[in-house]
Amino acid sequence: MKRSFTALLLLIAGFSLMLTPETASTQNLERISANERSDGKGFVVRYHLTELADSFKVVQPAADLIQMKLYGEGLDTTDLRLPPVSETFPQIDVHTTSKGLGVDIFLGENIFFTTNVYPDQNGQHLLLALEYTDLSGLESQIASADLIVWNGSEDSTLQDPEEDDRFLRLRDNLDFSVVVLDAGHGGHDAGATGVNGILEKDIALAITLKVGEYIKKYLPEVEVVYTRDKDEYVTRSERGLIATRAKADLFISIHANSVANAPSAHGTETFFLGMARTESALEVMKRENSVVDPQTGYAPELSEEELLIYELTNSGNMALSERIATMIEDQFENRVSRRSRGVKQAGLEVLWHASTPAVLVEVGFLSNHNEARFLASERGQTLMASAIFRAIRDYKVEYERSLRSNGRSQARN
Ligand SMILES: [Zn+2]
Repeated sequence: MKRSFTALLLLIAGFSLMLTPETASTQNLERISANERSDGKGFVVRYHLTELADSFKVVQPAADLIQMKLYGEGLDTTDLRLPPVSETFPQIDVHTTSKGLGVDIFLGENIFFTTNVYPDQNGQHLLLALEYTDLSGLESQIASADLIVWNGSEDSTLQDPEEDDRFLRLRDNLDFSVVVLDAGHGGHDAGATGVNGILEKDIALAITLKVGEYIKKYLPEVEVVYTRDKDEYVTRSERGLIATRAKADLFISIHANSVANAPSAHGTETFFLGMARTESALEVMKRENSVVDPQTGYAPELSEEELLIYELTNSGNMALSERIATMIEDQFENRVSRRSRGVKQAGLEVLWHASTPAVLVEVGFLSNHNEARFLASERGQTLMASAIFRAIRDYKVEYERSLRSNGRSQARN
């Protein structure tokens, strides 16, 4: 069974070689760096590429060897700098093949890592997250991986990445094509209650659906995915997973604020994921993370460690999240004359689960009389939804332009 599968793969590889166009490319791998994680639990190996590789895979065929295959025609390593030899990384070998590069990272004695790879979407880099484990934690990985033999021009397992779902596709999403809209709360989780009796879950849903309608009408090429389109409860982890499964380009969670004993507090604020740096950001984090999840039975709080790892591995997403957050707050302030309290960071669980640029918008305070009335009105909901829509539209233009100017969009047909 296994042999015939391999034969089929070799056949596919043969076809893909015949069909490979001979195009020049300016992709460079300039540097591989290895930095110890500040939580002491492992290392982050960064592949400094001038352009995102077409795709990649990582195998761990032995306890002391991590093999990484980068696909990208003409990947150039002329000026490649490697990390200094150390006890942890005594040897790193780079092999060129016709379709890309192979990198063998040999590990020191009695050093064992589990591996995870993340594309750093903004910087074109790839990040290999290594976390210490013991040998038993590696057994199944080792058992399931075949050693890649780099034999000069080709490697033994060469096949077209299109045919192999172990390759994480990096170039599928060159256009901005999917938005996940997340109406906060729902079902038994009403969120905040307004001074006029309105519920956060209803305000959030009304504005979310309007944003979706604008996108469908004015950006018909963009697919809209709702985490909920009616009054129902969805767990925060499920909301983020919907974005991951949809291969979303953007995740926007819509909420309304509330604060006790401060009826004058008002204004909008938009959060992206990170360490809360202010007391009020911490308050929002506690409130939005606070609902007990009936499936897991507890309200998880993100640890500093989780946030740290997120920041290490999602720096590209974070930059994009900050950008869309800024565009949304600009719209609120300058186009619909709301008071903007600014762009903030907090450890919001719903954002943590979405492996895409993600923001949480607080459209105003239900604990403030004027804002509660505004947000309950059709006009208020329309104004807020149109502002969020325009920010998404402008972000899409900017996002696609930056990809094109990087020349990435013509790289693969
Ligand atoms: Zn909320």
